[in-house]
Amino acid sequence: MQKLAIILPCYNEEDILPKTITTIKKLLTNLIKSKKVSPSSKICFVNDGSKDKTLEIIRKTCLQDKLFCCINLSRNFGHQGAILAGMNELAADLYVTIDADLQDNPECICEMLEKIDEGCDIVYGVRKSRTTDSWFKRTTATCYYRLLKLLGVNIVYNHADFRMMTKRAVETLKQFPERNLFLRAIVPLIGFKYAKVYYDRTKRQAGETKYPLPKMVALAWNGISNFSIIPLRFVTFSGFFVCFLSFIFLCYVVYNWSAKGTIVGWASTVTIITIFSGIQLISLGIIGEYLAKVFIEVKKRPLYIVESKIGCEN
Ligand code: UDP
Ligand code: MG
Repeated sequence: MQKLAIILPCYNEEDILPKTITTIKKLLTNLIKSKKVSPSSKICFVNDGSKDKTLEIIRKTCLQDKLFCCINLSRNFGHQGAILAGMNELAADLYVTIDADLQDNPECICEMLEKIDEGCDIVYGVRKSRTTDSWFKRTTATCYYRLLKLLGVNIVYNHADFRMMTKRAVETLKQFPERNLFLRAIVPLIGFKYAKVYYDRTKRQAGETKYPLPKMVALAWNGISNFSIIPLRFVTFSGFFVCFLSFIFLCYVVYNWSAKGTIVGWASTVTIITIFSGIQLISLGIIGEYLAKVFIEVKKRPLYIVESKIGCEN
C-alpha cells in the first residue's frame, strides 16, 4: 500500500481550518480503512508565514493526532513555494496538493487514486465550469488560457494546483531548478502518463482570498514569461515592421521634397514620434521583464525556507 501525503498550503486560514481539518481527516481515515492507502499516510499543512492563529491551530492538531503533520516556513513565500515545500520535505509515495479552503472537491482524491492504479504518474484536477467565479475572473481566466495556448505554453485548461503526483513525478520535478515558479506549466513538461479528473469548484466558505489582483497578475505574467519567448520575438518583428513602414514613409518624403518642395507637417511629426516612442518603451519594457527573470534565476535564492517541522518523521 502506498503512503499518501495530502499537502495543504495555508496562509492566514484560521477561519476555515477547523472545517478543513475535520473534512480531510474523515476522507483520509476512510481511505486507510478501505485499504486504498497506507496507514502511515499524512495530512501535511504547510504554514506559509501566516500572521493569524493558523500555526497555533495546526500545531495543536498535529500534537493531538498522528495523521497530521506540519511544515512551518520562515516567512510568506507564496502559494507555489508552499506547495513545493510540502512535496520536497515530506517522504511519501503519492502526493496530492489541494488548497486549504477546500474549494476543490477533496472527494476527487479517490478517483485520482484509481487513475494512479491504472498506471498514471500525474492526475490533474480540472474544473468542470467557472460558474462560481465572478464575471471578471471568469473572463480574464478564459482569455488568459487562450493567450497561453497562442504563445505555445502547454497548460491544462481550467486546472490550477489541485493534482496528484507519484514520487517518481515529484523527483523529476526537482530537476527543474526554476526560481520563477509556475507549477501548472512545469508539471506538463515532466511527461509520463497522465489523466484528468473533473469536479465542480465551490465558493470559498470562510476567510478571504489570498490571491488579490496584483498577486494574480504576477502569477499570470510568470506563466507567460517563464514558458514563452514569443513576446520577445514580437518585439523583434514589430521592429522590422516599423522599419518597413519608415522606409515607405521615407520614399514618400523624398518624393514630396523633390516634386513639391518640403512641407512642414507638425501634426504628422508629433503623431509619429508619440506612437513610436510608445512602441519603443513597451519593447524595452518586455525586454526588461525577461532580463529581470534572468536576474532572479541567476541568484538561485531558495524558494522556501523551513523554520520547523512537526510530525513529519514517519
Ligand atoms: N496561499 C499560500 N500562500 C500565499 C497565498 C495563498 O499558501 O501567499 C494558500 C492559501 O492559504 C490557500 C491557497 O494558497 O490554501 C489558495 O489561495 P486562495 O484560496 O486564497 O486563492 P483563490 O482560490 O482565491 O484563487
Ligand atoms: Mg481558494
